[in-house]
Amino acid sequence: IIQIENMHKWFEDFHVLRDINLNVTEGERIVIAGPSGSGKSTLIRCINRLEAHDQGRIVIDGIELTENLKRIDEVRREVGMVFQDFNLFPHMSVLENCTLALIHVRGMAQAEAEETAMGYLERVRIPEQADKFPGQLSGGQQQRVAIARSLCMNPKIMLFDEPTSALDPEMIREVLDVMTDLAGSGMTMLCVTHEMGFAREVADRMIFMDEGEIIEIAPPETFFTNPQSERTKAFLSQII
Ligand code: ATP
Ligand code: MG
Repeated sequence: IIQIENMHKWFEDFHVLRDINLNVTEGERIVIAGPSGSGKSTLIRCINRLEAHDQGRIVIDGIELTENLKRIDEVRREVGMVFQDFNLFPHMSVLENCTLALIHVRGMAQAEAEETAMGYLERVRIPEQADKFPGQLSGGQQQRVAIARSLCMNPKIMLFDEPTSALDPEMIREVLDVMTDLAGSGMTMLCVTHEMGFAREVADRMIFMDEGEIIEIAPPETFFTNPQSERTKAFLSQII
């Protein structure tokens, strides 16, 4: 469902992504780890075209990411993204945050949009917060709203960029539980996270990035117990 071939990206003269090759099949769960500045966020952002790559190919569900903007909208519709800092609209209620795109992008009637949104708020276990504003919720609750809002668009792929790293420890579990549920439902997922317990439990494959390159791709069993690269070993010894 995702094909990346010989992909490179530069920020000015800084070579941020170097010869990235990755195929993700439908339903696969990938966890991306690596030191700060290694290009994890940039890679994720290239997959839904928040950033444009400079060389090589990215194909999402049969659509090649190019300058052709019309098809980029199709891709955005299929790819949901959840960020570290939630990115909710503060002046809208939880329910309005979730229904906004359904009504204005999908053209859904309000009642149907609200019903859809409530379904996903139930799935992330906060239907009772629907009428509150984001500022009235805990970080963990806000992140679950952000996940529900993405799911409302019925994406085929979900991208997560450190979804728990802005949260207090007691709220991390509730967000990871929602992500684990989602993984169990067959969603294709790419998650940048330092939560290695979650990675072991959920990932089909682990990716380790360093200095803009994919250094290692392996199933978690191999990745954690028998990493091949010295750089992976050094990284794991620091975080586990
Ligand atoms: P972290 O773990 O800290 O989130 P990361 O692996 O997600 O790091 P990126 O955010 O992808 O790393 O950044 C990779 C490199 O590209 C960093 O050196 C960063 O400073 C640089 N970079 C990121 N965005 C831009 C930008 N818009 N313009 C210039 N340089 C950028
Ligand atoms: Mg990042």
